[in-house]
Amino acid sequence: MDTIKDRTMSVYKFGNKKADGRKELKNLLGGKGANLAEMSRIGIPVPPGFTITTEVCTQFNQEGKKAIIDRIESEVREAIAEIEETMGAHFGDDENPLLISVRSGARVSMPGMMDTVLNLGLNEESIAGLVEKTGNERFVWDSYRRFIQMYSGVVLGLKPENKEDLDPFEEIIDHLKEKRNIDLDTHFTVQDLKDLVYDFKDIVKKRTGKPFPKDPWDQLWGAVIAVFESWNGDRALYYRKMHGYPEDWGTAVNVQAMVFGNMGEDSATGVCFTRDAGTGENKFNGEYLVNAQGEDVVAGVRTPQQITKTGSRRWAELAQISEEDRAENYPSLEELMPEMYKELFGYQRTLEDHYRDMQDMEFTIQQGKLWILQTRNGKRTGAAMVKIAMDLLSEGLIDEKATIERIDPIKLDELLHPVFDPKALMEATVIAQGLPASPGAATGKIVFFADEAAKYKFSILVRIETSPEDLEGMNIARGIVTARGGMTSHAAVVARGMGKCCVSGAGALKINYKARTLTVGDHVYQEGDWISINGSTGNILEGKVATKEPELSGEFGQLMALTDKYARMQVRTNADNPKDALIARGFGAKGIGLTRTEHMFFEVDRIKAMREMILADTVKGRKQALRELLPMQRGDFEGIFEAMEGFPVTIRLLDPPLHEFVPHQLATQRELAEELHISLANVKQKVAELEEFNPMMGHRGCRLGNTYPEITEMQARAIIEAALNVKKNKGIESQPEIMVPLVGTVEEFLLQKSIIQQTAEEVFNERKDKISYSIGTMIEIPRAALLADKIAGHADFFSFGTNDLTQMTFGYSRDDAGKFLSVYLEKGILKEDPFEVLDQEGVGQLVIMGTELGRQAHPGLKVGICGEHGGEPSSVEFCHRVGMNYVSCSPYRVPIARVAAAQAAIKESALMV
Ligand code: ADP
Ligand code: MG
Ligand code: MG
Repeated sequence: MDTIKDRTMSVYKFGNKKADGRKELKNLLGGKGANLAEMSRIGIPVPPGFTITTEVCTQFNQEGKKAIIDRIESEVREAIAEIEETMGAHFGDDENPLLISVRSGARVSMPGMMDTVLNLGLNEESIAGLVEKTGNERFVWDSYRRFIQMYSGVVLGLKPENKEDLDPFEEIIDHLKEKRNIDLDTHFTVQDLKDLVYDFKDIVKKRTGKPFPKDPWDQLWGAVIAVFESWNGDRALYYRKMHGYPEDWGTAVNVQAMVFGNMGEDSATGVCFTRDAGTGENKFNGEYLVNAQGEDVVAGVRTPQQITKTGSRRWAELAQISEEDRAENYPSLEELMPEMYKELFGYQRTLEDHYRDMQDMEFTIQQGKLWILQTRNGKRTGAAMVKIAMDLLSEGLIDEKATIERIDPIKLDELLHPVFDPKALMEATVIAQGLPASPGAATGKIVFFADEAAKYKFSILVRIETSPEDLEGMNIARGIVTARGGMTSHAAVVARGMGKCCVSGAGALKINYKARTLTVGDHVYQEGDWISINGSTGNILEGKVATKEPELSGEFGQLMALTDKYARMQVRTNADNPKDALIARGFGAKGIGLTRTEHMFFEVDRIKAMREMILADTVKGRKQALRELLPMQRGDFEGIFEAMEGFPVTIRLLDPPLHEFVPHQLATQRELAEELHISLANVKQKVAELEEFNPMMGHRGCRLGNTYPEITEMQARAIIEAALNVKKNKGIESQPEIMVPLVGTVEEFLLQKSIIQQTAEEVFNERKDKISYSIGTMIEIPRAALLADKIAGHADFFSFGTNDLTQMTFGYSRDDAGKFLSVYLEKGILKEDPFEVLDQEGVGQLVIMGTELGRQAHPGLKVGICGEHGGEPSSVEFCHRVGMNYVSCSPYRVPIARVAAAQAAIKESALMV
């Protein structure tokens, strides 16, 4: 259907096993719309409807309401007519009304970001007709009160006025429940529901000054426009910012015939997953409610029941509910409606096979007929992401390249987070038990409101339930606890998407927002009290429980091995000590790309000798102090060489300005004077001499080694001697790569190089032994990139120090940028923080030029990167395209960089065929 005419369509229809759209049209139809169309095409029963495209949303943002309605009205009317025909009912008819839902859906799923209105089309007149038609008065009034509540919230903007307040409609509902002494919506009588409708309409009138809209077409356009407007609502803006989604994507609107899960005991609604979104296990699972509609399952108003029998038993065990009680009051769908279960089980298989990924689905059963209302690739934790991808590979559903492409590198970080120490866990006191909604371990102080999550450095957000407004706070908190809601509640789904630890549905918790207390039994916890939560078991624990390093799964190792098969670049690590080097090797680092020698000087026993060296008046004095430092440095290097077992190790010579090493406070200056047997005045004067206006552009880097060559001599000697020692004592052939920092002219580099070479020759002669080593430079000053060909003629390797290169190319001091960067990002002057994500447009040009010029003069020049960017996926991809040999990043980023490097290679090979 790809004719030119189609592209100007604003409305795409679906239903009756046909559709104008298909799954590939996500950008145009949004994820929900594209998948509704696709399901319809492949014969899954979806209620008929249509999608208004995301392009219309963009046009709406530019042209406004009237222009848009004029443009699409005839298409919408035509599409409604088609639904009317299929459903045998009429929109706006009093006798036989067609009811519809209006649903938003952007191209990526943004849970709860946009709002949905159900049962649209009802009014006082059509109510009677519908009662007549269905003979089910209770169902009709239940639908009507739901419609008024949703429409008023979403379209008319009736929201709680204060954060401590309940939703105004919920307040009325609670009030009535109290009066009638019932606790479930399902226990309302028809008269109760009618009372709710009148009370709802009253507050609408009071708060908006207008009666609730009666005309179904007014209702429909109101809802469509509200969906478009929600694209620019606060929640959507925040979510887009968090994920970096551009503003001009827009959202689609889906209009669809209603199917009813609230028609009685033979009706139900639910949510299900083809696999476990927390662990990744291949287990169909989900939750449902009998005689319920739409969001009831996720809203946590009633306790949802499990779909499978096994799931139900596991749930009952955690909730401490006996088997009799479970079977009687909370049976699984498998037990209660076995035919429906069988059909649903079939569809979930079909959909997973069709999409070749874990699906998250919504369904509704109307009087024994099953309808599927949504499917999408399910959000999942980092651990589930890895397991599912590897399982799909071994099941033959996807190939190796697709497996690697399925991995979001950043999400691997979650797997590396600490878990509770089992010993500490045994000793901890369990406060309450909830559902294991999102795995992990979290410890923090209790906060009750999302906008207060930042109040403490470590906070646990404790809520009765969460809503999309809480998103920002959920992201800040270490973990999330809810008293209500199941495994598919808002809190659970969002937390899994964020990889955040979450325990949901801990029914024993009594939360009082006004008093800011959490009560369990007779124990009262206040805001600010420490608790710990275990998202893998659902335990809520008292106080701070100790954590330890996680153990990585077999699938994680297999995935990492797979990346080596496809990546062209190697991944190294930035490590200054053997411990970090070992961690990184555990993650598969193939060498060290940066060892910063200065960090070694800050330790207590060394800083003294270092200061002595700096404060020395003569070369002789300086050499004396350096002799003390030599064995310490040599020992450090030996440790690192041993840890790296022959993998290359790049060691950078001393880099920071010397004043960083001297004391700036009177008390410590006095101590130093005493230690060195010099006067305090002398110390003060020296410190003052070292003071610089712009230390980052001052006496640092190779400028130190060129003014004090004895420093370079000592460091070169320490490196070479260490390598010889490790060779002799451990039989390890190290590959030291000595790196000269902050080079801007070729002469600077040549002078350092000759000092290093001379020193190495001396040591070789003394020891009567040799090792191979290389000498290269950092490219971190723009001038070095411009003159890279000159430098490369003499250098064995280049390593782009993109932290300094970014600093000097932008002219932003990294230490001072905090003051304006956030404003720049907010105002859109910068799209991303250039210290986090490599600025490919600007700094990237210097990197490309430096690499190309360097390799022209020196074919086969080894090139790498050692800035923070070496572990950031988009920057890693850039490095691959530039043709670097390796990237180097901090130890915990090594897995991320390995996946990103493999993805870059796969992407490139896909472009070449
Ligand atoms: P969200 O994107 O927040 O999940 P949805 O548009 O999917 O919002 O809808 C919210 C709820 O309403 C879901 O449970 C969905 O299954 C239900 N729903 C939406 N449209 C219909 C419909 N036409 N008939 C029955 N239920 C519907
Ligand atoms: Mg949905
Ligand atoms: Mg630097």
